[in-house]
Amino acid sequence: MISDLCAFIDASPSPAHAAATLESRLRKAGFSALALTDATWRLAPGGWYIRQGAAVIAFVLRSTAVQRFALIGAHTDSPHLRLKPNAAFACEHCRQLGVEVYGGALLNSWLDRDLGVAGTVYTVDGRAVPILVRKPLARVPQLAIHLDRTVNEQGLKLNAQTQLAPIWGLSTSVEPADAFADLLAKEAGVPVDQLLTHDLSLFDVTPATVGGADGEFIFAARLDNLASVHAGLMALLAAQNGAPDCVPVLACFDHEEVGNTSRDGADGPLLATVLERVSLTLGLDRQAYLATLARSLLLSADMAHAVHPNFADRHEPRHKPHLGGGPVLKTNANQRYATSAATAAQVRRLARNAGVTLQDFVTRSDLGCGSTIGPAAAAGLGIAVADLGNPMLSMHSARECAATADHEPYIRLLTAHLAS
Ligand code: ZN
Repeated sequence: MISDLCAFIDASPSPAHAAATLESRLRKAGFSALALTDATWRLAPGGWYIRQGAAVIAFVLRSTAVQRFALIGAHTDSPHLRLKPNAAFACEHCRQLGVEVYGGALLNSWLDRDLGVAGTVYTVDGRAVPILVRKPLARVPQLAIHLDRTVNEQGLKLNAQTQLAPIWGLSTSVEPADAFADLLAKEAGVPVDQLLTHDLSLFDVTPATVGGADGEFIFAARLDNLASVHAGLMALLAAQNGAPDCVPVLACFDHEEVGNTSRDGADGPLLATVLERVSLTLGLDRQAYLATLARSLLLSADMAHAVHPNFADRHEPRHKPHLGGGPVLKTNANQRYATSAATAAQVRRLARNAGVTLQDFVTRSDLGCGSTIGPAAAAGLGIAVADLGNPMLSMHSARECAATADHEPYIRLLTAHLAS
């Protein structure tokens, strides 16, 4: 299971690749694609999915008599460095790439790593061509300590505009923009004059791996939130059996790390559109559809903060999730998480029945709190939501850390939800 998680993460170096990996796993499992551009859907019992950008909504129809949905929500995106439209330039005899910081990345973690490029290029003939340069193409070199004598005492401060541009070669007589276009064209297998635009992410080419003295840890990029996407996928693929009038759904959104507000984000209409169209296609009217939402529960699956042994005081003393201690139920009175006492009780019942030990997280009262797709989905759909996820360290680093022992109970809990 952990080697499959590692393979899933390695196959998904950009949000678009994560969606493509999901899509290919679903297809392999016999799921059929639906298009939002088709005015009429024909649905029969079986697995279905919709992909829009880097978002994927997949569901299993056990029958055509629908009373409620059992949903898992997650996100395909992770914080990273993203290339600007006119990315290539030269400075001091080095070829460089202009980058934007996508989401709340830990900038220091991107220094001195071997970076590849992944994403999509768009061509004159209307194609979107995936690109994956899985080699150490680029690097953001850290300034030598001899030229930055106070860095260890005063901390590393990086200007995102001027101090994060990676190098990817040395200057030649070829214009950097032309050289980069040539590189992209070659990787995409299209003539260079066919390229129009691109959407490209940098990623650390180091593969995901199991670590620790006895294999206790998984060290990998993008555990937040591909570990949850993978767990949700495993749960959905096991969701053939269960209440026939309940539709299990896995909704993986893009743009969680930048606030959910986009066409492919949880604050957009995508999930509501899909659920309503499924309901209408199955013969429900809008009244009946709204009633199904009122009966439904969404588990917002997103990774949680394990207590860091070097910074244990950053946690609320009675809410310290440990690595290896099992999935974490997340609560925040200010609705940064959508869990209520009522939905927490539902999750506790699920966990008890599935034999899964839960941990609790609430942030310290004197610290701010992160968020998830949970509040956006709850507000957008008017649906009951609980926020949960596995404990991890180094969240939003280019290389994160979680416990191998936690993944199986996470899948078991999500599977129990879809079967309920
Ligand atoms: Zn997340």
